[in-house]
Amino acid sequence: MRYSDDIIEEVRSRNDIVDVIGQYVSLKRAGANYVGLCPFHNEKSPSFSVSPSKQMFYCFGCRVGGNVFSFLMKYDNLTFGEAVRFLAERGGVKLPEEDESPEAKRMRDKRATLFEINKEAAKYYVYQLKGRSGEKGLAYFRDRKLTDETITRFGLGYANVSSDDLVKYLRSKGYSDALIIEAGLASHDEKYGTHDKFWNRVMFPILDANSKVIGFGGRLMGDGKPKYLNSPETPVFDKSRNLFGLNYAKNARAGYIIICEGYMDVIAMHQAGFNMAVASLGTAFTSQQAQLLKRYTDTVILSYDSDGAGTSAALKGIQLLKEAGLKGKVLNLKPYKDPDEFIKAEGKEAFEERIKKAENPFFFEISVKEREYDMSDPAAKTEFHRYIGQKLCEFKEAVERENYIEAVAQRYSIGSDDLHKLVASIAAEGGIVKAKEKPKSGMHSQLRKEDPGRKPQRVLITWLADEPELFESISKWIEPEDFSDDLYRGIAKQMWEGLSDGSFDPARVLDRFVEEEEHAQVAELFNTNLVQIDTKDEREKALHDILYEVKRTGYERRLKDMASDDPERWNFTLQGKRRLEELLKARIIISTD
Ligand SMILES: [Zn+2]
Repeated sequence: MRYSDDIIEEVRSRNDIVDVIGQYVSLKRAGANYVGLCPFHNEKSPSFSVSPSKQMFYCFGCRVGGNVFSFLMKYDNLTFGEAVRFLAERGGVKLPEEDESPEAKRMRDKRATLFEINKEAAKYYVYQLKGRSGEKGLAYFRDRKLTDETITRFGLGYANVSSDDLVKYLRSKGYSDALIIEAGLASHDEKYGTHDKFWNRVMFPILDANSKVIGFGGRLMGDGKPKYLNSPETPVFDKSRNLFGLNYAKNARAGYIIICEGYMDVIAMHQAGFNMAVASLGTAFTSQQAQLLKRYTDTVILSYDSDGAGTSAALKGIQLLKEAGLKGKVLNLKPYKDPDEFIKAEGKEAFEERIKKAENPFFFEISVKEREYDMSDPAAKTEFHRYIGQKLCEFKEAVERENYIEAVAQRYSIGSDDLHKLVASIAAEGGIVKAKEKPKSGMHSQLRKEDPGRKPQRVLITWLADEPELFESISKWIEPEDFSDDLYRGIAKQMWEGLSDGSFDPARVLDRFVEEEEHAQVAELFNTNLVQIDTKDEREKALHDILYEVKRTGYERRLKDMASDDPERWNFTLQGKRRLEELLKARIIISTD
């Protein structure tokens, strides 16, 4: 759905960015801006800056930035449309309904209703747990050593033995059978009609990152199958894109997030103070979940059961984390099976120690492989060393490989020289060295590839946004075409237009962009670190240098883009060179007021 620019602008102007972000992040005034600890990466001293004049935020640490919409999109995992609607309500702006297609509106209404039904169901299960019939469920939780506080915090409940209680309750709230079934809370068949999906189970409500109930997991009381039953996929519940506990873990600010296998693990860990724990929902960890985690952390610790299935899940998880550009580690909980058991037996300090010692994925993979070889057999041992050598060859960077060779040599008591020779000979044989794919994390790869000509362009745009009165001296020399890529050029064009008729407003520029990535790039453009220069002479000289750099790289790029047989080429070259010489000799005046 697309709102008109005017509406978006009105919503934005009624929600001052300092007020909005101030509700989530504690901000302190610093000069013209406000600063605070960045909510998007872990830090001890503030590098997160909010500008009231530009109505933008930008983090100098993790280079995330944007306007009030992109802040909420990122912080609360909202779509652009959802952020607009949230802020419209906050600012008391009535949004036109007709902008939405009937199909989109129907879907949105349906989703809203399904969220409501799930919430009602969660309330009902909590109510059951506290009632007479819930005694069995409560006893189960108590037996698992959960406190009342934890039971409340996770909204744990109970579905009793009777098979249509919830359906009756939801009907009484006015929901149709069709909707109750679509929410995944009931099934229908000829014999029993519409009946509850969950019964005789303790219930774990599953919340999305915004704390909305999207489904349930239920554990059977007593024996029988399946032991765990989850809600089916519904329009609000996509198992591969959600993680149990993320609504709490996203705010934990531990610097890492721990993934474990089950609901009980997550709950036990939170109760012990490890509120950065999440679990995937009855399925294997997915690449979408890795992407989801990436919004909140750069390091993920895998905590899977210490059995064979758990180990292979961890190996697969390591791969997915790598592909997402996340740092992975593996928690070793031996001799215990899972975090819940470990914490009960050894306590939280011991668990904390294990987190600190979480194994790097390279050593984890090797130690898993080691079990396949009989180390008392010299032939097998040699083969194992060759395997290590091959793994070491996968490190492309010499320094990194070197560090690992030393570490492996120590840990496996292999002579460091021998290991060097082995790695060199394996590398020389070639073939076995699989080129290691660089993680496809958009932002990082772009940063690495950044061409040096862009920095002066950013400085110029930031400087101009801070001191629009310089426009005259700048526009005399630079035109939007001088900027190097589509994004920069587009922004420059808007600035040049706006500054010539006095209508320029940096915050408005962002309204034309919807993608978070674009927001971050635009915010970066407007928040380049400017060195404080005090004397007029030096300021003029600095501006002159930057203008010259932008002009020169702009000229070179445009020339390169021209076909070699373009009849205009000769003329363009001549004029371009002359302009550059003029600029070189010119004096840029910054008037002082
Ligand atoms: Zn940051």
